[in-house]
Amino acid sequence: MKRVGFRWIARGSCRHPEAMTIRGGSLCPVDFPALVGVIAHPERGIFLFDTGYDPDFLSATRPFPERLYRWTTPVDIGPDTEWQTWLAAHGIAESDLAGTIVSHFHGDHVAGLKRLAHLPVWCARAGLEDLRQASRIGRVRRGYLADCVPAEMHNHFFEDAPALPLPTAFAPYEEGRDILGDGSLLAVELPGHCPGHWGLALRTEDGRDVLLAADAVWSGKSISACRPPPRLTTALLGDSRSYHATLNLLHRAAGNNGDLAILPSHCATSAAAFRGEDAD
Ligand SMILES: [Zn+2]
Repeated sequence: MKRVGFRWIARGSCRHPEAMTIRGGSLCPVDFPALVGVIAHPERGIFLFDTGYDPDFLSATRPFPERLYRWTTPVDIGPDTEWQTWLAAHGIAESDLAGTIVSHFHGDHVAGLKRLAHLPVWCARAGLEDLRQASRIGRVRRGYLADCVPAEMHNHFFEDAPALPLPTAFAPYEEGRDILGDGSLLAVELPGHCPGHWGLALRTEDGRDVLLAADAVWSGKSISACRPPPRLTTALLGDSRSYHATLNLLHRAAGNNGDLAILPSHCATSAAAFRGEDAD
């Protein structure tokens, strides 16, 4: 694969009891960062994998029924609340941004999308259609905030990109969708969490194979122990059967290749190794 720079940086966090995210977890509330992949392509600029939280999340969840989302998932946008401040804090020049890759349309992954509406957006057609077709209350129930998603976007759909074989490091995953057409970023469907839920395979500049797993699981522990969230959580948002099939594949991928970094979007432990120059 063509190599890219990669950092995995939080933009805000939310709190839930751990027990909602993994069977047998604690009832104590735990902070879950909303991680953003900052991918530096050697020729084309910087692509973001998801946007994390944003002040737009707060305005979108001010009215009812959207306010229920904020009540059930208390959010902290973090110290660098404003978009420009967050970019500057992490040494990202806004003019270098080249596009956004959206794993799925839950509010915590696309809250900042309006800041990036002038750039191309890669996403699943199935995910965008699910968001657009749901009723207002249906969207809240499914974790969508339509106000955060621009009405007009320059979309490229994962489903339309050509399939390319993945390196054996990603087995049992065998192929991905070559979204930029140069073998650098391969989108991989990880079904179950919600309609149109995809991850991204890449190889870093120093040769690490990385699979951004979005919300296929909440933590690396879930993958290593092959332990899903309670059925209530998986059934509420998506499809439990395909969720479990995806978890099994990720568990096998981790077992096959100890060097493959599988990074869930809300796992603080997995983020530590990829914070780049932001590491303390
Ligand atoms: Zn999420």
